[in-house]
Amino acid sequence: MPERRTPPAELGQSRPLAPPIYVSSVYALPDLDALDRIMEGIEAGFIYARDAHPNALQLAERLAELENGASAVMCASGMAAISSLLIALLRQGDRIVISDQLYGKSLQLFESHLNRFGIQTSFVDALDPAQVRASLAKPARILFVETLSNPMLRVADLETLANLAHEQDCLFVVDNTFATPILVRPLDHGADVVVESLTKLMGGHSDVTLGVVISRGTLAEQIAAIVSTWGFFASPFDCWLAARGLATLSLRMRAASNNARILADWLKEQAGVVRVIYPGLVEHPDHALAGRLFNGGFGSVLCFELVSGREAVNRFMRLAQRIPFSPSLGDTTTTCSHPALTSHRFMDPEVKRRLGIGDGLIRLSVGVEQVDQIKAELAKGLK
Ligand SMILES: *Cc1c(COP(=O)(O)O)cnc(C)c1O
Repeated sequence: MPERRTPPAELGQSRPLAPPIYVSSVYALPDLDALDRIMEGIEAGFIYARDAHPNALQLAERLAELENGASAVMCASGMAAISSLLIALLRQGDRIVISDQLYGKSLQLFESHLNRFGIQTSFVDALDPAQVRASLAKPARILFVETLSNPMLRVADLETLANLAHEQDCLFVVDNTFATPILVRPLDHGADVVVESLTKLMGGHSDVTLGVVISRGTLAEQIAAIVSTWGFFASPFDCWLAARGLATLSLRMRAASNNARILADWLKEQAGVVRVIYPGLVEHPDHALAGRLFNGGFGSVLCFELVSGREAVNRFMRLAQRIPFSPSLGDTTTTCSHPALTSHRFMDPEVKRRLGIGDGLIRLSVGVEQVDQIKAELAKGLK
């Protein structure tokens, strides 16, 4: 940050402890020599906010550190982060292999948009290494998965997948939005690139829309060039808010994971609840893998299924007023969502049935409230 070295004259010897927001879309320079030195990277400085601004750089540095990456680039949203990465890495004729359980909009991007640019997408069940190996036998540029899938919360075996990708000279990209670097740092387990939506848990207060691409290598320069030319840049105010949210990420994740584990056990005992899906439960198919991979917790998201489908869900939403039906996740407040009619609304009904996404399934994004408060509110909804 340039102002660390030369504090603005009007502040004298003092500096603000809280970082300032630099809303300026353009910067003023003393002369052409200064312009040259900044453009050539000899001296720090900013010129035009779409190319770079202090709030984005500051936040990117902290995120690179959190994920143990070499560098990070802020983008306007999680989708902008994924798009920048794809535009930076792919060219016409390339092929990519993706998990068939990705975030809905990611699936749409891969399925309906990339093919217009001559890029071929193959879907795999990323939980089945043999299937991934078979698909990667044909040349592919990228293998793309999510650490924790939505809504079944299946856990990707990062090391196995990284090895499969690297055996074929393929880049391994992980969307770590549901886990966050507090649970796992995919770069430490073989991933080449991590993408994240800060809109969810990382921002943590439902007031920013932001994404990031973090890599081990020198990818950042390419990504930054895409962000600047395609216009995917992150706004200073959102970066500033996200930096504030990040300050409590580890506290929030630990509190929410703890609550989620208690609530998962409790929900299992409630009348009207057919099943509970949470990696912290021994009966979850990836419980052991999650235990090995994750750092002190199983995440803040769980799902439970009500016996009488849509009607029961409507009743639950009307009665549990303090658990807002709000189709996102990661707030400090507990919220609920309904995968069948929101994130997976346009999925083929047959695939939905196969994945177990029924009308009675509720996804709970567990917050950091006192767990007894959440329990009491859930109990109202289950009456
Ligand atoms: C929300 C989400 C995204 C997209 O992020 P936006 O900030 O909403 O664009 C990508 N991946 C996952 C797993 C998400 O949950």
